[in-house]
Amino acid sequence: MSWEKQLENSISTVDELVLLFDIEEKEKEILQDICNEHPLRISKYYLSLIDNDDRTDPIRRIAVPIPHEKYLEGSYDTSGERPNTIFQGLQHKYQQTAVILATNECAMYCRHCFRKRLVGLDTDETLQDLPRAVDYVENHREITNVLITGGDPLVLPNDRIEAFLKAFSKIDHLDFIRFGTRVPVTFPQRITHDLELVRILREYAHQRKRIYFVTQYNHPREVTERSVQAIKLLSEAGVIVSNQTVLLKGVNNDPDVMARLQRGLIEIGVIPYYVFQCRPVKRVKKQFQVSLYDACRIIESARGRLDGHAKRFRFIMSHPTGKIEVLGIRDGQFLFKYHQAKDPNDLGLVFSKRMNKTVTWLDDLQ
Ligand code: SF4
Repeated sequence: MSWEKQLENSISTVDELVLLFDIEEKEKEILQDICNEHPLRISKYYLSLIDNDDRTDPIRRIAVPIPHEKYLEGSYDTSGERPNTIFQGLQHKYQQTAVILATNECAMYCRHCFRKRLVGLDTDETLQDLPRAVDYVENHREITNVLITGGDPLVLPNDRIEAFLKAFSKIDHLDFIRFGTRVPVTFPQRITHDLELVRILREYAHQRKRIYFVTQYNHPREVTERSVQAIKLLSEAGVIVSNQTVLLKGVNNDPDVMARLQRGLIEIGVIPYYVFQCRPVKRVKKQFQVSLYDACRIIESARGRLDGHAKRFRFIMSHPTGKIEVLGIRDGQFLFKYHQAKDPNDLGLVFSKRMNKTVTWLDDLQ
């Protein structure tokens, strides 16, 4: 079956969920309200990874909404994307990177998504004018790479993906083109069932411009045979795959799980790039955030079980002022460092804040 047909067969209604999982009537109403605001989509493949009998199953937590999602504490724009939007669909926050929002669709709507404000919804945030984006990048020689994201750009048809590759490969001052995509994890059939896509990627990666895929494995059980098959096809096509994990309560907030995940990635040739502190996103904060104190302990303990390659990732908070590395705790202080900064003067700046055991985000620290 084609990947398009398989995607059409995804779970997308609360009624379907009720047939599959143990959901009470009163819970059903809450979930319906939630899904009216933030749509549901779970590919049949990802569904097959869930243990239906376990309400606390980590894979289920990522895909299936729970009533906690009704809490509105937090923000829908936690890293300041609006103020860095140059025109519809193009953001330019860090000098070297232009970010393109290519689509509002994904193969799965992850319940912890930081772009919840737009995924699966009508939005005026996605790119409508590719030539304008190309012009912008051409006229900004400080840009070394373009990140094509969304939503998930890999749900776009091949000709749209090729159009991005064709347009940006011609720009000499770009070193590489990046795609932010979760399809290797949530819907690997997009790659394994479309050899034409693999051919296009191979052609561009080998002959024109280096291509990176940045994906998001959050749990070792997501590293399945099918997913590894997709990674192999990408690697053989010359695409370099790196990973950004989000630290999520009830999913991977355990040093052993985190260490097994990062080791698993190294084993299949995926580069551990970042672990992100979960952002204080509306409907996400309450159910998924771990305190910074616990996060530091989890990350350090996981690192203690890993070799140098597997612990290359940086533990990062993506903040309106920049990507801030959480270095750890010393003498009752959290230590931070600007890894990327909106204001170039902040780059490399190390600073500290008094430790607090319950706070989850920088802005709440004194
Ligand atoms: S695939 Fe990415 S953009 Fe889409 S819902 Fe999941 S985390 Fe968000």
